[in-house]
This record gives sequence, C-alpha cells and structure tokens, in this order.
Amino acid sequence: MNDFAERLLDWFAGSKRDLPWRRLQHDPYAVWVSEIMLQQTTVAAVIPFYNKWMARFPTVQSLAEAPLDDVLKHWAGLGYYARARNLHKGAGVVVSEHGGRVPSDPKQLLALPGIGRYTAGAILSIAFNQAAPILDANVIRVLSRVHAVPGDPKTSAATQAVLWKLAEAALPTGRAGDFNEAMMELGALVCEAGAPRCGTCPVADLCAAKQLGDPTSYPQFTGVKKWLDVEDVSVAIRNPAREVLLIQRSPELALWGGLWELPRATRQDGESLECCAARAVRESTGLSVTGMAPFGVVKHVVANRRILLHGFEAAAENDQEAEAAPSVRRAWITPETRGDYALATPQVKLSDLLFQQETQGRLEL
Ligand code: SF4
Repeated sequence: MNDFAERLLDWFAGSKRDLPWRRLQHDPYAVWVSEIMLQQTTVAAVIPFYNKWMARFPTVQSLAEAPLDDVLKHWAGLGYYARARNLHKGAGVVVSEHGGRVPSDPKQLLALPGIGRYTAGAILSIAFNQAAPILDANVIRVLSRVHAVPGDPKTSAATQAVLWKLAEAALPTGRAGDFNEAMMELGALVCEAGAPRCGTCPVADLCAAKQLGDPTSYPQFTGVKKWLDVEDVSVAIRNPAREVLLIQRSPELALWGGLWELPRATRQDGESLECCAARAVRESTGLSVTGMAPFGVVKHVVANRRILLHGFEAAAENDQEAEAAPSVRRAWITPETRGDYALATPQVKLSDLLFQQETQGRLEL
C-alpha cells in the first residue's frame, strides 16, 4: 500500500464521524441516496433529510413504488429537485431492469438517471469495494494540494483528467471504499477550503502545497461567479373560505419540476409588479381576481440565481375552477395543510410570511 493511503486510512480509522449512511455502507441504495443528497449540501444539512427519507423509502422498491408527489415532499428544502426526480426514475429502472438490485456493473450504473462518474465511483467503491476513484469537491481540494496540481479544476478538462488519474493511482488494493471516504473526510475536517489544519494533517509531510508555503492557493480556481438576478411575483389567491390556491408545476420542467407554488411569473423588463402579478394569475390559472395588493417580499439564493420573490394577495371573484386551466393540478390550502405539498424554498418562505401575517392579524383583532 502506498504511504499516502496508509497514513490516510490510519487517520480515518480513528477520526471518522458516525454518520447515518455509514451504518448502511454496504447497502448500495443507501450509499446512492446519501451521495446524491450530499451534492451541493453540507453533511449537517443532509442528516435529517436522509433519516426521514430512509424511514419513508427504506428500499429501492419502496422508492420506485412511491408517487412523485410524496418523493418531492420528502426532498422539499434540499433544493436541486432534479436530483429527487432522477432518484425516483432511477429506482424505477433498477426495479424494472435489474430485478430491484442496484447494479454493480459500472456501465449499468452510469446509465441510471442522475448518476455520473463521481456517484458511480462512490457506489462502486463504498458499497461494492471496487477499485473506482471519486472526485468530489473535498477530494479535488486534497489532491490539488498534496500534488500542487496546476490549472482550474472547474474549467480545465486537462486539470480534471490529471486529478482523476491521481485519484485512481492512489487507490489501495482491496480498500477503495474506505480510502475514498477517508479522502472526503480529510477534505471536510482537516484540509478545509479557507483554513487547512496542516498542523494536524496526517499527510502533511507528503503535501506539496504545504511545502510551497501557501496551501490555500490550490486548487487554482480562477473564475468569478456570475450571478443571475431574477425577480418573480407570486399571487396568493383566496377563495371565500380564505383558503389559498397552489398549482403544481409540470414534472417535466427542469426548474422546480413537480413542485407546488403560488401562481408565479417572472417580471419582464419594464413590467410593473402589479402587471406581472396580473399576468401570473392569468397565465397560470385563468381565474378572475379582485383586490390585488402586495403583502411582502422574500430573498433566496440558489446556485447562481439570486431570487427576489414579491408576494401579492387577491380574492377569486367566483368559483371558476372548472373552466380555468383545467390541465393544471391545483389545491386550496390552509396553514395546516401546506405541509402536505412539496414547495421550493422561496415559496415556503413566502407562504410562511403570508400565514404569519394572517395569524398576527387575527391576534390583533
Ligand atoms: S498538509 Fe495542509 S494543505 Fe496539505 S493536505 Fe494536509 S491540510 Fe491539506
């Protein structure tokens, strides 16, 4: 075994965190779920979602059989909902084409929706102990520093290729799963992005970036994040019973597909908020409303999108549900029933604001 792997594995044996998915690490479905949830999210944020998910969908069969609505409801709050839709689709493929067993063949695994080289590597190495490398943000940071790899791993294919080769070359025979987990753990606990703890690092004297004196200059990221500013308007339409209308987005949509929302439109150049609110109602519901008035605004950042979501309230003029946009699924909700529907985080924030104001209004009466 190479020196780097030996030291890392020794350190991992004494330092690894007790994480819920590590208790099921020979279950490829559990590894798959945890790895997908951990993309773009921290361990601390994932744990409650993972526990709830595994209690509701403990096997790949139970996930495949569940309605998409239920799947999205258990994902709501984690963001990047395409991941949940792909997991659900992938579970269906595992049941229909692989007899309900997550395949251990790399080609079959890579053919499942949402599984790329990284996730396949994690499942193959952790659940099946196959010699498959992985390259997530933590591993990229560790390898870039230990080997002082030049180039930007986000934008340079040549740098990525070098890192994949290094990840593969470092794998110790028969211990690929533990080794990959150890690299991720080192990146999370010791070789942190802004402040690496080189003084306690088990591979410090093998690390080129430390010897060069400036570990944080690796990885050599060059790009500056380009923000996309989006201004949306959602309308809380109430019926005579004071229930609020939610509509469901088509599951085929890439953004928030299958999730529920207060009828929403994106503000166009030069359009007033009031006109945008009226358009949201017209295009999404076909209902006639009266008494349109703003009630608040929330901010949300997801990936490179900075979203400003304005909330308006209005009353449905009469019960025109039957004729209005009949193909759109709709539900009239109360504060008590909102939790039955999967909403994206900005919509949760906005409806919280709406219902809070309603409660405060009631208390003041
Ligand atoms: S020595 Fe420092 S920079 Fe190098 S791997 Fe360890 S923590 Fe990271």
